[in-house]
Parts: sequence; C-alpha cells; structure tokens
Amino acid sequence: MAIRIGIVGLGKIARDQHVPVIEASPDFTLAAVASRSGGLPDLPYYSDIGDMLAGDDGLDAVALCQPPQVRYDAARAAILAGKHVFLEKPPGATLSEVKSLADLAQAHGVTLFASWHSRYASGVAAAKAWLAERTIRSVAVEWKEDVRVWHPGQAWIWEPGGLGVFDPGINAMSIVTHIMPRPFFLLDGTLSFPENRGAPIAADLTFRDDSGVPITAAFDWRQTGPQTWDISVDTVDGALVLSKGGSVLTIAGELQETAPEAEYRGLYDRFAGLVARGESDVDVSPLRHVADAYLRGARVVVEPFED
Ligand code: NAP
Repeated sequence: MAIRIGIVGLGKIARDQHVPVIEASPDFTLAAVASRSGGLPDLPYYSDIGDMLAGDDGLDAVALCQPPQVRYDAARAAILAGKHVFLEKPPGATLSEVKSLADLAQAHGVTLFASWHSRYASGVAAAKAWLAERTIRSVAVEWKEDVRVWHPGQAWIWEPGGLGVFDPGINAMSIVTHIMPRPFFLLDGTLSFPENRGAPIAADLTFRDDSGVPITAAFDWRQTGPQTWDISVDTVDGALVLSKGGSVLTIAGELQETAPEAEYRGLYDRFAGLVARGESDVDVSPLRHVADAYLRGARVVVEPFED
C-alpha cells in the first residue's frame, strides 16, 4: 500500500521536486500540505504541522521542506505522532539536534531519513565505484554560483543556521563524503562573511584524508556568468571529474554515459525502502564538515551583500 505523505513548507524545492516526484511515485500518495502561505488544489491544507498531524488524513509520513532553522520542532512533533520523516538537506541547524531526532525516531520505531539529493546525481554512483579501487593523489572541489540567481529573496539562508554559501557547498560535501573511500577532516579554512550578513558568502577549505591525501574546496556565491559545480579527483590512473553538480562524469578524459537526472526519484525510492525495512538513514558527515569549518576556519569580513 502506498505511503500517505504530507509536505511541510511549500517553497521552491517542495514545488520543483517533492510534489511532482511524490505524485509520480507508485510508493507514495500526497495526502496533505502544511505551509503558512497556502496549499495545493484538491489537497487538505493546514497552516502548520501541528494541525496537519492532528488531522484525519491517515498520514504515514511527512517530508519537511522548510529552512533548517525551524525543522527540528516539526520533525520532533511528527516522530512523536508516529510518522516517518523525510528531512530536506541539511538535516538540521546543529549536529546535536539531528542526533536527538535520530534517537527519538529509533525510540518510536519510525524511519528518519536525512536526505542528500546530490548523492543521487547521475554520475555519482559510477564515480564512487571507480574510486573505490584507485589510489587517489588529490581532490579539488569548486562550487561557485550566483546567489542572486539561485536564492533570490531567501532571508533565512543569510541568517545563522541558514548556512550561507554552505547551503550549496554542503551538496558538494555530500558527494565527496560519499565517493571518497577514506574518511577526511578539515585542516584549515577561511569563511568570508559580508559585513551585513550572518552567514558566509564564500569559503576556502583545506582537508586531508587519513592517509594524507589533500582535498581543497572553494565555495563562492559571487560567481556570475557560467556556474561551476565541479569535483576533480587526481588518481594514479588518471583524473576523474564530476561536473554540473555530479550529473556529468569524465574519467581519464573520456565522457561516461550516465542516466537522465532523477535525484529526487532516487531519494523517494530510498525513503520507501527504508520505511519498508523499518530502518533509518541519518548520515551527518556533510553537516559535520560544515560545523568543523565554522569551528576551525578563520572569519574575514567582506563588503556588504544586497539582494
Ligand atoms: P524556500 O523557497 O524559502 O521555501 C521554504 C518554505 O518553508 C517557505 O516557502 C515557507 O513556506 C516555509 N517556512 C517555514 N518556516 C519558515 C521560516 N522561518 N522562514 C522561511 N520559510 C519558512 O526554500 P527552499 O529553496 O525550498 O529550501 C528549503 C530547504 O530545501 C532548505 O533546507 C534547502 O537547503 C533545501 N533545498 C533547496 C533546494 C533548492 O533548489 N531551492 C534544493 C535542494 C534542497 P510558508 O511560508 O508557506 O510556511
């Protein structure tokens, strides 16, 4: 029987991806929406999640698509109501709140899924498989985009807990943590904060893995013109390059064939499988690297940013 799911926070990602992917999935039925600004035609609508959980829509699960700063309370309420929970990325505003949710989900026998959509980009699985058997020399991540194009008017993203440039940067970290065969950790970094904002507009980070392989990451929201979402891995057998956010894979100069984009279908297939098996998947490693950057990185103040 299909999982009856309610969406919370009907913003950009809910409308662009969650709604169409749920509606096309045989595993799910979109059964309700909770959002302050309005719902969807022909669906039960609530202005907040508390009312939705108290409703009689027979919900089995919720997908939480609000900004990370407000997701904990919603997730806690849903778990206490016995619902399975799909968390948009990042899974929370702090590592400790995500741990608390994971423990709560386990205690209540429901599935908690911390989703990382970029891991389902079409080149990522093949990149992971190829790298598993290679000797890696270095990794360079370049994730540079125009914030005015991708996040117009999103006040929350510039506030503490909104992650700033780490909102896209954590997508890169979700891929790197997934494809690298060995764990890695931050050595140092610089976070550039506009003087009028509570989150960084750029970050330059240096990591190394536990065998000494250097990993650099450059995140920048000030890039106009062509956008860059590239991960380059130098190995003794040649270079592997994941570009366009992980959807294009080149190995030793040869473009690899990849399937069409289906990141959110992959996420919902995974969520359905977790629910069916009574499991959770709460990998916080991308968020941990961001937290480390805030802990260990130097902070510099740069010119103010206006939308
Ligand atoms: P968004 O367009 O700003 O939508 C978020 C929605 O959450 C809002 O429409 C709002 O709906 C609701 N909300 C509840 N409390 C809020 C608060 N205090 N401040 C602002 N909105 C609040 O954001 P989004 O781009 O969809 O991103 C939401 C989450 O998905 C983020 O964690 C983001 O990292 C992730 N994500 C986004 C994308 C993308 O391409 N945009 C891609 C992947 C993942 P109501 O006002 O109706 O309640």
